[in-house]
Amino acid sequence: MTRVRAADAALCPACGSPVADDPRFTSWCPSCEWNLAPPPAPAPAAPAPEQRRTDRRRRKEETARRTVRDRVERVYTAVAADRPAVRDPAWLGANALAGAVHLTTLALAVCAAGLLIAAPTWPLRVLGLFAAALVLSLRPRLGGLPRNTARLYRGDAPGLFALTDRVARALGGRPVDVVLVTGDFNAGFGRIGLRRRHVLWLGLPLWAVLDPGQRLALLGHELGHQVNADSRRGLWLRSALAALDEWEELTRPALYRQSFGTFVELAASAILQLLLRPVNLVARALLELLDRLTLRTGQAAEYRADRLAADLAGTGASLGLLRTLMLRRTVDTTLLRMRADRARRARRTGTDPAPAAGPWEELSAQLADVPALERERLLRLSAREFGTVDRSHPPTHLRLAMLEARPPAAGRLRADAADWPAIDAELAPAARQVAADLEIGR
Ligand SMILES: [Zn+2]
Ligand SMILES: [Zn+2]
Repeated sequence: MTRVRAADAALCPACGSPVADDPRFTSWCPSCEWNLAPPPAPAPAAPAPEQRRTDRRRRKEETARRTVRDRVERVYTAVAADRPAVRDPAWLGANALAGAVHLTTLALAVCAAGLLIAAPTWPLRVLGLFAAALVLSLRPRLGGLPRNTARLYRGDAPGLFALTDRVARALGGRPVDVVLVTGDFNAGFGRIGLRRRHVLWLGLPLWAVLDPGQRLALLGHELGHQVNADSRRGLWLRSALAALDEWEELTRPALYRQSFGTFVELAASAILQLLLRPVNLVARALLELLDRLTLRTGQAAEYRADRLAADLAGTGASLGLLRTLMLRRTVDTTLLRMRADRARRARRTGTDPAPAAGPWEELSAQLADVPALERERLLRLSAREFGTVDRSHPPTHLRLAMLEARPPAAGRLRADAADWPAIDAELAPAARQVAADLEIGR
């Protein structure tokens, strides 16, 4: 990491303006963006042909990135101009494509059943078994509750559920049935199982560093997913995407490449690769197409969820939430450091007293301590890198810009109406479990 030494810390080596100079964070120049992203450590020199291949791959990736960027920016412009985008031709195309994927699975299931029941010879029956196994991995799945995640039901956390009920009611959605507490710097909402139970995922590293208003905005965004017309989350499109993902994974050439074995084994592996490659290419092309066709409705739905959150919790709280989402790297490094500190303390027990505050309070205090110029650096870096919280969300800086472009909302719900000490106490057992999983506390 490039660091400016204390003696010449005050000025930017590129333009001479004052630089951000906190020894705990990257030094950078707000005027010319010198060292906005510290250059990565130089990689060891590779042989020339390999270097050429790496360069070619990098250029290809850069072009693909630029294409996606242009597309995402066009969606932003369309949504900002309020052009209707919910039921566009692309959306119809995506649903038709999903239908074709489901029909393929159905046809395969019929073939498998036919072969298993009526095949006259055993090789055909084996083929039937094989097809049945394939159908099993391609079938639409309703999802289930993960086993090792802390769960909270209504009876466990009346305060938290009172809050989610209030948010759901204000949005015109249905109440949450289960809260899953995770160690991710993220949150989510979905429907699971035959009964389509409403599940809210709460990542504690995120929840712990948000203030009450921002937590309300987070719930507003997540529960807003019920009413923001996000068709990608529906079973029809989601299971088609999952089936295509499965096709792609099962036919990936690397899976069957062998470099050792008898001649027959090598030949068999080569033939299998030759046969599977076209299927793999088609699956990949369809995945990309489905992604493209749903990009506009999907991202428009995310912007809409942000707007719902702002109407509910106030524009200020929603902006604060989005700015906090940019601190992912800071949260990651802080958690790593806390883990290392704890391991060190454990090695020399007795001499090194444990911190007075719990791990989540410590994380929150560390994040509150990030100076404004470091936040500004992360914001600009996120815009440059087109940073997103995950694949389904628009880049965070565009979400910020979308909210900033609208008249500010005061918020319909008051964050201080919730019983926060009670909610903290209800979350405490899950918080201890997650802290233990992340090895930052007990
Ligand atoms: Zn400069
Ligand atoms: Zn979202």
